[in-house]
Amino acid sequence: MVWVLALAAVLVAYWAWGPRWRAGRRARLNQAPFPSEWRVHVRQHVPLVARLPADLQQQLRQRMQVFIAEVPFIGCQGLEVTDEMRVVVAAQACLLLLNRPQAEFVDLRQVLLYPGPFRVRGEAVDAAGLHYARNDVLSGESWVQGQVILSWPDCLEGAAVADDGINVVIHEFAHQLDQESGHANGAPPDALRQRRWSPVWSAAFEGIRRGFYDLAEGQQPLFDDYALSEPAEFFASACEVFFERGGDLQAQHPQLYAQLHTFFRTDTAAWAG
Ligand SMILES: [Zn+2]
Repeated sequence: MVWVLALAAVLVAYWAWGPRWRAGRRARLNQAPFPSEWRVHVRQHVPLVARLPADLQQQLRQRMQVFIAEVPFIGCQGLEVTDEMRVVVAAQACLLLLNRPQAEFVDLRQVLLYPGPFRVRGEAVDAAGLHYARNDVLSGESWVQGQVILSWPDCLEGAAVADDGINVVIHEFAHQLDQESGHANGAPPDALRQRRWSPVWSAAFEGIRRGFYDLAEGQQPLFDDYALSEPAEFFASACEVFFERGGDLQAQHPQLYAQLHTFFRTDTAAWAG
């Protein structure tokens, strides 16, 4: 009986003080100096960060400090997780948190890092609810239970070229935002409050799939077949393009760009080229 009361007291204390304790801890992390070695890792491996305005770079560093302090990284297949790995993943993932009121991935429990592309076997369910056997080799995956799984070399490769619209870390963390609704369907819960989110995304998805958009001279298509395979992949791929090729997305699909601009509260088309 006593232990039941004690447990109840702990739970009540956590309920009452947990958010305040966490907010205080985050405030302290935001005040702490950003380690100089971390700056070196960002400069060496994530050139996209140099394109951000100075105030967003500062905000990114604060988000990264909280992310690295709170999110457990697990090395798989013998991979030893280093600070460099945490910093490179965090610098890309936290781009999705800039300027947003919910400055965290609410469902995220762990980041699992593999020394290379990893194989996934098992049963999966497609968008139509059909079960099928899968046996895939992947560079990244995001689970609705709060795991993001990444191949470390692919994290480096995705970061190395800042303007190709291909970035596995941004892609998988975009899925995390989408999956906050309990499943991935290309519409994060807070996005659905935006005016015209669904019609704009549906029109763009169907229009690009059916080849309705003519490319102007010199323009390259921004979405491949995988991006156009289902709405969830389209959203995640559009986030990669939004952060790395904002100007091109704005030029080719201005309404889609405007929706992402509102959602992320960031004008990536204005970032330095
Ligand atoms: Zn995906």
